[in-house]
Amino acid sequence: MKESKPITKDPVCGMPVDEATAVHTRRDGKTFYFCSDNCLQKFISGPAGSKPKGKSGGCCG
Ligand SMILES: [Zn+2]
Repeated sequence: MKESKPITKDPVCGMPVDEATAVHTRRDGKTFYFCSDNCLQKFISGPAGSKPKGKSGGCCG
């Protein structure tokens, strides 16, 4: 068995996905891979919550 599969992570659900078969999109020059079109749509439309637009992850603005 070969073990050289390019596996990456779905940024939406965190699941490992195979770059060769995963659905993907480009943003800011990077390619993102998803386990399903569902996760792709979530990624495109943003988080379901009603967060204000802007960078996430900052605690103190
Ligand atoms: Zn997913």
